[in-house]
Amino acid sequence: MKFDMNIKTKLTVSIGVLVAMIVLLVSLSVTNLQILTATEPDSPAAEPGMNRALTWIMIIGGICICIGLWILFKIPNSINSPFKSLVKGILEIANHNYDAKLDLRGDKELEEVSKNFNRMAKRLKDYHNSTISDLMASKRYLETIINSINEPIVGLDNEQIILFINNEALNILNLKREDVIRKSAQEIAMRNDLLRRLICGMWEDKKKEQEAPKSKRESLKIYADNKESYFQVKYMEITMRGNDGVTMEKRGDVIMLKNVTEFQELDTAKTTFISTVSHELKTPISAIMMSLQLLEDKRVGGLNPEQEELSRSIKENSERLLSITGELLNMTQVESGKLQLKPKITKPIELIDYAIKANRVQAEKFGIQVEVDYPEKIGKLFVDSEKIAWVLTNLLSNAVRYSSEAGRVVIGARQQDDNHIAMFVQDFGKGIDPRYHESIFEHYFRVPGTKVQGTGLGLSISRDFVEAHGGTLTVDSELGKGSVFTMVLPC
Ligand code: ADP
Repeated sequence: MKFDMNIKTKLTVSIGVLVAMIVLLVSLSVTNLQILTATEPDSPAAEPGMNRALTWIMIIGGICICIGLWILFKIPNSINSPFKSLVKGILEIANHNYDAKLDLRGDKELEEVSKNFNRMAKRLKDYHNSTISDLMASKRYLETIINSINEPIVGLDNEQIILFINNEALNILNLKREDVIRKSAQEIAMRNDLLRRLICGMWEDKKKEQEAPKSKRESLKIYADNKESYFQVKYMEITMRGNDGVTMEKRGDVIMLKNVTEFQELDTAKTTFISTVSHELKTPISAIMMSLQLLEDKRVGGLNPEQEELSRSIKENSERLLSITGELLNMTQVESGKLQLKPKITKPIELIDYAIKANRVQAEKFGIQVEVDYPEKIGKLFVDSEKIAWVLTNLLSNAVRYSSEAGRVVIGARQQDDNHIAMFVQDFGKGIDPRYHESIFEHYFRVPGTKVQGTGLGLSISRDFVEAHGGTLTVDSELGKGSVFTMVLPC
């Protein structure tokens, strides 16, 4: 038979039993003491009485000791063991084992505790399952979105572990999803050329961003699906708010590729077209200029002043046309990668002289005074003098054209360091708004509101020519104060 007792009852009963046993022992001893004191010590009844009293005391004492020992072991144990089970259950829950069950019996209060505990565990399990399934659903949702993007995309954490990659990226990288997810991109890059180029590009991009934030990006040629494709690569840093909720922390990078094959093909077609047209135009323009020369020759017959004016205008426009076709041809040379340099040792002053001669007429026309700033000691350049002379001529022509009438222009050179020579053209004209300091080096760009005639090609071609020599072409300009264009070339 089992008695359902709570802790309080158990303690009360145990203490009651102990008190009852003490009372029983004391009353037994008192009774025996009374019987013994009533008996004559020398009478024959004294000894058996004494023995009987001792026997009873021993029996009752023995029973009391047994009951006492039983209470001593049983009661603390029966109080302690449910707590042990409870602590064990709590630990299981803390370790996310929500299947742990508590089975405390023999006490209504403890049964209530285990019932509530089990209910809590079930609720926690349901909540945990729903949170996990929610997270899994969100993850699948994001993966579906990333996979539905038609352009290749790869996500890396700060340790360059691949967190996500879409099918397009797997396709061009020729990799399998299970071989890359949660794997180190650097390790995979050791056996995958394209990934290596992308990872290296990421570091170069960061360096370039610091050096020249808006430098133009070249497209990447990739051979995939049995055809050549061109991709523009974009790197994006992923930053999130840190634990303090204020500072932004970098969490990784995303590499995105944009398929520009179609544009590249159109661009190549455009370049070929411009190149052909410019080339074809050169011959008739030269023929017009030759005819003009003949027309101006007095031996053929004199021209009246009106005809002379017309012939001068035709000459000017033909020269402009010739210079435009020349610029276009130069541009197509750079764009199609057909730019060939024929370097030779050249003194910087020779290039400066050439540029001044080429611009003399124009400078005189606008009353511009051209000054030369040239040091006594300077090294020699090893460049394609035709190309660099063209650049210097173009810079000087800009300085003259964008200066106010009767202005002053300085052209010069200086030894930048042991291995570099800087050549510069400075004007004191209207200057260039800092917003356009990079754009002016892009094809066809002209500062809004520029009234002087031009194509917007000169500076972009100049930069391409200088960069082809391993040099740099930069501008330093302030509105209202003028501009300095500096090209630094290795010597
Ligand atoms: P173009 O002079 O034929 O328009 P460029 O590529 O040489 O083409 O120059 C691009 C633009 O930069 C010009 O249209 C002009 O607005 C601006 N620019 C170039 N040089 C100067 C200069 N020295 N001063 C002021 N603006 C300039």
